[in-house]
Amino acid sequence: MNREKKLFALILILAMHVYHGSAQAQSKSDTRLVLQITIDGLRADLLDRYQKNFDKGGFRYLLDKGVVYTNAHYQHANTETIVGHTTLATGTFPSIHGMVGNVWYDREAGELSYNIEDPKHPLIPTRENISKGEQVDPSQKLSRTQGRSPSAILATTFSDTLAAYYAGRSKIFGVSGKDRSAVAMAGHVGKAFWYSTNTGDMVTSTYYYKDYPKWAKQWNAQRKAEQYSGKAWKLLNDKSSYMLADQDDRPYETDLKGYGRVFPHPFGEAGGKLFPTKLFISPVSDKLLLDFSKQLIKHEQLGQDNVPDYLSISFSAVDAVNHFFGPSSLENEDVVLQLDRTLADLFKYIDKTVGLKKTLIVLSADHGMADMPEYMTELGYKVGRLKPEQIINAANEVGKKQFGIDKVVRFFFRPYLYLDEKKIAKAKLDQAIVEQAIATKLTENEGIALAVPREISLSQFSNPAVHQIKRNYHPSRSGDIYVAQQPYWFLLESGPIAVMHGSPWRYDTHVPIIFVGNKIKAKKTSRLVHPVDVTPTISNFLGMTPPSGAQGIPLTEIFQ
Ligand SMILES: [Zn+2]
Repeated sequence: MNREKKLFALILILAMHVYHGSAQAQSKSDTRLVLQITIDGLRADLLDRYQKNFDKGGFRYLLDKGVVYTNAHYQHANTETIVGHTTLATGTFPSIHGMVGNVWYDREAGELSYNIEDPKHPLIPTRENISKGEQVDPSQKLSRTQGRSPSAILATTFSDTLAAYYAGRSKIFGVSGKDRSAVAMAGHVGKAFWYSTNTGDMVTSTYYYKDYPKWAKQWNAQRKAEQYSGKAWKLLNDKSSYMLADQDDRPYETDLKGYGRVFPHPFGEAGGKLFPTKLFISPVSDKLLLDFSKQLIKHEQLGQDNVPDYLSISFSAVDAVNHFFGPSSLENEDVVLQLDRTLADLFKYIDKTVGLKKTLIVLSADHGMADMPEYMTELGYKVGRLKPEQIINAANEVGKKQFGIDKVVRFFFRPYLYLDEKKIAKAKLDQAIVEQAIATKLTENEGIALAVPREISLSQFSNPAVHQIKRNYHPSRSGDIYVAQQPYWFLLESGPIAVMHGSPWRYDTHVPIIFVGNKIKAKKTSRLVHPVDVTPTISNFLGMTPPSGAQGIPLTEIFQ
């Protein structure tokens, strides 16, 4: 090393030292609240598409004041809600945190397992005689009990490490329209509350509490959801101001029992089986979540002392609306614009109670969203719908014809195909060979892009999507063959859900990442970054070691 190089290295070491020291000092004295906002299903380009109609104080505040990453992509294949949220919370991949899908097949029990279901921790009832609402969420529908806990999450979260660092003095909460989104972000040590599509109440389980805290009990007693009885979801602004004004009445949107395909969408009367669900598929559920969060911030006194607290709010309405009406609908544009107002209201409240200067705001999403197959076909890109039976039948045919095994498929739930290991062993066959034969045959089906067995062949290694599938693999939870549809193809049982996310393709992996906080200089960058970077960045900002499995890298723009 010559003298110049030595001097440069010395300056670099000194500069790194100063930078690291200042990041630590800043966070310890200034940050009183980490507010992590996740917008379920907010594909990153939607913020761009609707930007001109954003008002002051909501998204515009974040876009103007923050470091905005316009090119952030998930690196796992199964872009679903629990997978994305847990990745954000832990900074690592499903292969490590274990949340490989909203649902997986439990080989030992011989039944489907809903990600955060835990019969040992039942729901705490909020009222007597709860009538069961009609469940339309296709994965939640598969859970057997209403018990919930983070026990199945195999890595620690940011909130877990925050608790450890401050010796349990940080107050930690996760709230959401969805159980899985609240639970994943609250981690193992925080408290979680979520919206009940049975009652419209905000509920929790015995994992977190023996009974509801007084303020939560009072909030639920007010039955805030019922004030929308007999009302309807109406457009926020004049219809002509919407970019997608002509995308309201489309034959392929879902008409959910009287909710209709066009504005206004009537909620029906409180007490109706689908009433809380209809509120959920509208801007109302985000508004109820905000109202509840304000009470939480007030009564739990978040951000009132020098120990940083953590609040995760995961807004679910954009995703719900996407599933029923598609991301290129008038409904989508309106739900995002109404969320913009909800966020403005939230930030105003935070400023009043904690102070925005003392709050680190982090915004992202758990996955993006595909446009509807029929919409894409209408535009000229012909795609269709695949039924799970087609995959099961095609795989069984290979089992029968090539290996003489009757019904070789034990279970299929997208994206994983589970084979009957006992039958294969009994036939004295090498399972890897059976898997490879089925996978090869499946890719011949129209609509299937990739079928990847556990033992990936060299020829498949050249495909980058195969690496996304690898990061999604957990030995006891993942299936034997991963099935990925071709872009924009739909792969799920037919039902009220009209369109899906969950693919390894860019419309599903692309999410916003925005950081806003004191001493963070506004900047927009198209540098490729990943949601696994979010938690290491927050940890670094607070001078803490990242969570146990974290694989991401702190985003340098936050510290410049
Ligand atoms: Zn989601």
